[in-house]
Amino acid sequence: MEQAVSKEEIRQLVLEARREGKRVALVPTMGALHEGHLSLVRAAQARADLVVVSIFVNPTQFGPSEDFEAYPRDLARDLALLSAEGVDAAFTPGTEAMYAPDAQVTVDPGPLGDVWEGASRPGHFRGVCTIVAKLFALVAPDLAFFGEKDYQQLVIVKRMVADLDFPVKVVGCPIVREYDGLAMSSRNAYLSAEERAAATVLYRALREAETLVCGGETSVEYVEQAMRDTVEAEPLASLDYAALIDPHTLVRAAGAGGARAIIAARVGATRLIDNMAMPSA
Ligand code: AMP
Repeated sequence: MEQAVSKEEIRQLVLEARREGKRVALVPTMGALHEGHLSLVRAAQARADLVVVSIFVNPTQFGPSEDFEAYPRDLARDLALLSAEGVDAAFTPGTEAMYAPDAQVTVDPGPLGDVWEGASRPGHFRGVCTIVAKLFALVAPDLAFFGEKDYQQLVIVKRMVADLDFPVKVVGCPIVREYDGLAMSSRNAYLSAEERAAATVLYRALREAETLVCGGETSVEYVEQAMRDTVEAEPLASLDYAALIDPHTLVRAAGAGGARAIIAARVGATRLIDNMAMPSA
């Protein structure tokens, strides 16, 4: 596996592949890789000739009181995992390599960036759009792979690509879960054993919503209340939001059928998110 740490190196590497007529895929990550990330890698490998995985803990998508410093980092382990998967290239720039000290232009995510995660994490999606746009400019991928785990991020990145005419196809990939339903996340490493057990409450609330909608429940309010009740019954969890939303516009759904159920909660000090497609009405 090749490793690029500078913008020049990654540009050169991709240029050579392009000259050979290769189809290029990008999988952007913040490292601390798990099976969720590796599922994106495998999806990329199935559809491209050169797969680039970026590992960059992007400071601009963290709020001032968030976990940028504490975010888990283990580059040697990540590179070994990617190499074992047969990844062609890892792009692992440092912060200074990505952002000039006087950088000032950012990408405005628009109104989709103000709701749900954006309301709880002001500036988060501006940071996400800016780094994704920079990675697209550097790697110029034909395809880019994102997880449905960060559902709002996936919708916003697709919107950015459409609105700013990036010549890339964004591919969304299903959520990979632990044996007990907890969505895999680098932040799960923060959980104590007790919190880890309690953390399944997000998945349990989503399953509760799915069961209700499967059984013919159409009321958005009723299903949202059921999700809230599930989380409130878990003493270690505190709910941020639980909602049924339109899967494209992200506004609250008109009916429960076909909506996306989204949930965010703190378990101990760790903020977790999850989501699930509701069956059609
Ligand atoms: P992150 O390193 O958390 O920024 O995630 C990098 C990419 O992996 C994003 O597109 C995430 O949505 C995706 N991802 C993270 N966790 C999962 C998961 N459990 N299943 C599928 N994709 C995931």
